[in-house]
Amino acid sequence: MIIIFDLDYTLFDTARFKRDGLALFFNMSQTEFKNYYKINFKDKGINYSPKEHLRILGWKHKEMMAKLNEFDDWLEKEISRYLFPEANKILNRFKQAGHKIILATFGDKEFQEQKISALKINDLSAREFFDEVIISNKIKAELEELKRFQGEDILLVDDNLKEALELKGILGDKCEIFLIDGPYARSGEYNIAPRGLKDLAEKFF
Ligand SMILES: [Mg+2]
Repeated sequence: MIIIFDLDYTLFDTARFKRDGLALFFNMSQTEFKNYYKINFKDKGINYSPKEHLRILGWKHKEMMAKLNEFDDWLEKEISRYLFPEANKILNRFKQAGHKIILATFGDKEFQEQKISALKINDLSAREFFDEVIISNKIKAELEELKRFQGEDILLVDDNLKEALELKGILGDKCEIFLIDGPYARSGEYNIAPRGLKDLAEKFF
């Protein structure tokens, strides 16, 4: 089977990463960061990146570059701590069971690339660990990329119900959605009960 994993809020505790990680790095309180993120990115439909974060704050090129270098080092050291605690074990089990495991994510392409390059999964870089990594800057581009898996037996592990349904629309009836609970798991029109990564292990092993 092909297992497609989303990254943010699915394998990666993005809420904690923003709250405890990014806020701290940028010397903001959790509330400050939350409001900043909402006003400048979420409400405007702009993908978050540290570069854009500093640009909006009005940082000059030279200072910005220095701060971004500092960010690279910080990210490299810290990012793997924000994987959900069960993620390594579950990914390993799927891999050992011989499934093709794909990481598919969208967001600011440069920032997602950077996160994935720094992220360690079972002591391997995420790039090496997954059979394939697909990074897109828009959901449309992700849909295009995933078209080639149309009609295959797929398990889609994602926290975003709306996006997961869009992906299933492309992937076909043999694609099953395993919805991970999080801020994007509920949508008025559909009713798939969201579960946690732990339940995924229980279901399959
Ligand atoms: Mg997600």
